[in-house]
Amino acid sequence: DKKIRSIDEKVDRWRIKFKDDNALKVKEDVFDEYALKTLYTLSKREILQAMGGIISRGKEANVFLADGKENEIAVKIYRITTSSFNSMEEYIIGDPRFKNIRHTKREIVFAWTRKEYRNLKRAYEAGVRVPYPIIAERNILVMEFLGKDGISYPLLKYTEIDQKQAEDIFSRLIEYMHKLYQEANLIHADLSEYNIMIDTDNMSPIIIDMGQATTPEHPRAKEFLIRDIENILKFFRRYGIDTDPDDLYTSIVND
Ligand code: ATP
Ligand code: MN
Repeated sequence: DKKIRSIDEKVDRWRIKFKDDNALKVKEDVFDEYALKTLYTLSKREILQAMGGIISRGKEANVFLADGKENEIAVKIYRITTSSFNSMEEYIIGDPRFKNIRHTKREIVFAWTRKEYRNLKRAYEAGVRVPYPIIAERNILVMEFLGKDGISYPLLKYTEIDQKQAEDIFSRLIEYMHKLYQEANLIHADLSEYNIMIDTDNMSPIIIDMGQATTPEHPRAKEFLIRDIENILKFFRRYGIDTDPDDLYTSIVND
């Protein structure tokens, strides 16, 4: 129909490359005008060589595999039209880093994308294993691809682990929450087995999805941190790990 034709025309005109039909098939329902324009900017700047297939279709964003300059990259494209705008606004208001943005939907999604980039960067610099962020441009975040041969690493939720591996992953996650709070000045605020990937080469955790992460100054920071702690403890309880949530909270917050 008309919408698809106009997308095709832009893809041609702007010379955005797609690796295969699979990558092309999804384009009408996931790429809007903004996303296409931004992909064009990224390819002109040689950050993006060709778009590959879709890795994940989410409520707020879709994640794609793509060819970067040298390596595979992950391209997370936030939706502008159907994103859950209200919950984004709630996290951004109250964060002193975003007090000057205009509150239109588009501006909020762009700010959110920049926020995820900055959060990942700060986490990375604090020594937390996260996807290395490459660039944030409008509603697109480009980052290190976590996986092997074009296949993403599994989420913790879907990874089979034994007792020993559970203990190692758990203690690494505690170390990361502490580093996030103490060194990056961040609380993840959506931490669970769904936002932790497992590097299957060494069975170590990688924390992802940091758009909503906030600083400890946020009015709901304490509530978010307690929720993160409870999610993690709930997951690991089945491996016999029985840490007291209050003790864990204290050890993260008081250095
Ligand atoms: P949803 O709306 O479904 O919650 P989301 O907005 O939470 O999506 P993410 O959690 O950041 O988005 O990513 C969605 C999925 O994409 C992840 O569960 C993971 O499987 C995959 N993914 C995210 N980032 C990367 C990456 N850098 N490399 C490989 N796969 C990734
Ligand atoms: Mn997620």
